[in-house]
Amino acid sequence: TTTGSAAPLTFPVRPSAAPVAAERRAEILAAPGFGRFFTDHMAVATWTRGTGWHDAAVVPYGPLQLDPAAAVLHYAQEVFEGLKAYRHADGSVWTFRPRANAARMARSARRLALPELGEDAFLEAVTQLVRTDEAWVPSGGESSLYLRPFMVATEAFLGVRAAHEVKFLVIASPAGSYFPGGVKPVSIWLSQNYTRASLGGTGSAKCGGNYAASLVAQEEAGAHGCDQVCFLDAAEQRYVEELGGMNLYFVHDDGSIVTPELTGTILEGITRASIVELAADLGHEVRERRVSIDEWREGVASGRITEVFACGTAAAVTPVGKLVSADGELSHGTGQAGEVTLAIRERLLDIQYGRAEDTHGWLHRL
Ligand code: PMP
Repeated sequence: TTTGSAAPLTFPVRPSAAPVAAERRAEILAAPGFGRFFTDHMAVATWTRGTGWHDAAVVPYGPLQLDPAAAVLHYAQEVFEGLKAYRHADGSVWTFRPRANAARMARSARRLALPELGEDAFLEAVTQLVRTDEAWVPSGGESSLYLRPFMVATEAFLGVRAAHEVKFLVIASPAGSYFPGGVKPVSIWLSQNYTRASLGGTGSAKCGGNYAASLVAQEEAGAHGCDQVCFLDAAEQRYVEELGGMNLYFVHDDGSIVTPELTGTILEGITRASIVELAADLGHEVRERRVSIDEWREGVASGRITEVFACGTAAAVTPVGKLVSADGELSHGTGQAGEVTLAIRERLLDIQYGRAEDTHGWLHRL
């Protein structure tokens, strides 16, 4: 199944001889949590320099055989994606803007000197895997099947250069409601000792190294009793960039909403981009511009900023209740989720779960 640039890559299914028993699967789906359980299959394809992509298939889920000299283990040549499959009330299964994830992975791959996988091949891998493991897509509440496409440098070679052998995989993990007890505002720790990305770096790529570098800041947040960490720009330590795994929005008292503009150092969130359009549908003026940490603090203190929320695939839309830093604490609102935050959250989830008309054509049926 060697594929040059022209022929489309297909992912024939080699079914597992030992899938998880239906009763055990039902038990897992009743309380999956996040990222702990995996479905019966995975999609895989190999790329070899000079040959291109080949040996694509959906195979039984299981450990990889990796040479200890595999480049990814030493030089972190890796990119990944995150998207979900949602079950609608009629039982059908859909993904949300999967081509946007495919395009982002292609951009990430370019930055990490990894080969490009075409959007069609990305979509085919996701589609074949979800169809094969359809029984693993939970129903009810805000549950979903989280999909994790990723690409790793597998060549056994310690020279520092782009690897000549690479693997692309997609694994799937059932996810429960992010807020089973109702939407609850999160507390944010402002990172002033660590930054996430600098100009010319990898901030806008979804590569493992960015997350490795953010962990110590996330631990600092935890040590200060906070749920999430917020990073400032590396050049001036003045402008708000994003959280460790979510983008930010600020709701103003005139109804306008503002999100930090894309400067090359923040991740171009697909939820962020969707909210730019959804919020406009709901009658909000949306602005993408720089937001300084002083504007955030003064805005909340003066009441000009009425709500702050974070957004991403995992939690959709999450209200921010508190900003904590070495300089002290700043509470936002009443400790409850704000009205605009909840309206945008509901609108987004209604589209994802098929309860509202998909006017933007964002859903992709599997
Ligand atoms: N920023 C970072 C650093 C992230 O890891 C994510 C999650 N992919 C996001 C923002 C949100 O992106 P998306 O809406 O595409 O999930």
